[in-house]
Amino acid sequence: LFSRVEQAPPDAILGLTEQFKADTNPRKVNLGVGVYQDATGKLPLLRCVAAAEQRLAATPTAKGYLAIDGIPTYGREVKELVFGADSPLLEQGRVVTAQALGGTGALKLGADLMRQVTPDATVLISTPSWENHLALFTRAGFTVEKYRYYDAARKGVDVDGMIEDLRAAAPGTIVVLHACCHNPTGYDLAPADWQRVIDAVVEGGLTAFLDMAYQGFSQGIEEDGAVVRAFAERVPSFLVSTSFSKSFSLYGERVGALSVVCSDAAEAARVLSQLKIVIRTNYSNPPTHGAALVETVLEDPELRAQWVAELGEMRDRIKAMRTKLVDGLAAAGVEGMGYITDQVGMFSFSGLTKEQMQRLRAEYAVYGTDTGRICVAALNDDNVAYVSESIAAVLQG
Ligand code: PMP
Repeated sequence: LFSRVEQAPPDAILGLTEQFKADTNPRKVNLGVGVYQDATGKLPLLRCVAAAEQRLAATPTAKGYLAIDGIPTYGREVKELVFGADSPLLEQGRVVTAQALGGTGALKLGADLMRQVTPDATVLISTPSWENHLALFTRAGFTVEKYRYYDAARKGVDVDGMIEDLRAAAPGTIVVLHACCHNPTGYDLAPADWQRVIDAVVEGGLTAFLDMAYQGFSQGIEEDGAVVRAFAERVPSFLVSTSFSKSFSLYGERVGALSVVCSDAAEAARVLSQLKIVIRTNYSNPPTHGAALVETVLEDPELRAQWVAELGEMRDRIKAMRTKLVDGLAAAGVEGMGYITDQVGMFSFSGLTKEQMQRLRAEYAVYGTDTGRICVAALNDDNVAYVSESIAAVLQG
């Protein structure tokens, strides 16, 4: 039966982790995988999450099935985080939110839903984008094409190129946009650029799918959510995927959500009924624990304040590491790397070539992806000097 099944290539980033694990160099540093680590190099357990765990454990409950679209209070909290508690959309009942298996699960629910709504649409993703965007939308049955995004020469976003590509797209095209902390480049659009994107979406009849995997990692929860609100003001229907993997450090719990903005409440009810079928036929209903943790934190003013503070600590630590990396590079004789502090989120497009990234791995045991992406959220005071020196050595010779 399976004798003709071909060997699939290993996942590029997870393959890198395997290689890292096998590396015997004591100074090795893994900047390949997109996971935030604290100042001691550990994956943090947020204090607000630990407190929520204790509360849940203190009153153990039976584990019944959840509703198909998940915990209702969780859904409400997600809506308020993403669209703002005072959003008229929420009052009008125009947003459908379903609990999902992380940001990936949310994207897949959205892709499957859209495959039903507009089966012939093309999907546009940024050049470059998170690798799974291409794979996920292709698997869902769409033809995936790309719009210009990264401007390597200017170290920023090619806004004019991006707008030109969006303007050339056929009506109904689904445009996947990184709401904040663009992965892998770290370059986001300015508010005025977003307005140009929204113009192109509205005038071209495009379907925007905002991928929000890092809300709170750029400027703050409210500030990062402003992009979604800008869409809400002008675009009648669009989709937003949310991930709490990073913002709650709940990677393995698979907590996220898909929100679909509809024209009115009646349309929202119909969309929800279809979304429920997508969920029901995939995994029936979502798991309880991760969403219960997020719900507990967001519903309790004290825990919520603690979360906001802890998210701020993660954000500030990443920013401090960016500065230390640039300073370390300058100290090692490499100038002109200041663009690393212009970037936001967990990643930096270092500007290194594939060959340089491979040398960095082979000679210095510093692991980043071949595209030149490094996870600055994995830097700390113990490794940043070594990483700076290693990058400098590779750049200098
Ligand atoms: N979208 C983007 C842009 C991401 O970077 C990631 C995570 N690397 C995801 C979605 C998926 O998030 P999750 O791990 O919650 O599935």
